[in-house]
Amino acid sequence: MSKKGARELVGMICSVCKSQNYVTERNKVNMDTKGKGKLQIKKWCKHCKKVQLHKETTKLK
Ligand SMILES: [Zn+2]
Repeated sequence: MSKKGARELVGMICSVCKSQNYVTERNKVNMDTKGKGKLQIKKWCKHCKKVQLHKETTKLK
C-alpha cells in the first residue's frame, strides 16, 4: 500500500541529449522549491557516455 503524502515522482533528464535517465522522488515537505529553480544533479548519462547535468522534469516517460 502506498502512503499518501507530499511526494511526487520526477524524472531526471540529461540537459544535453534530453533522454530521461533517472526517476527520483521529490519530497515537497523537505525540499523548498518555492521561487527556486529545478533540481539539477550531475549524473552519468549512458547516451552521452559521460557525466552530464540532469534536470528534473515532471513528464515521466
Ligand atoms: Zn545525455
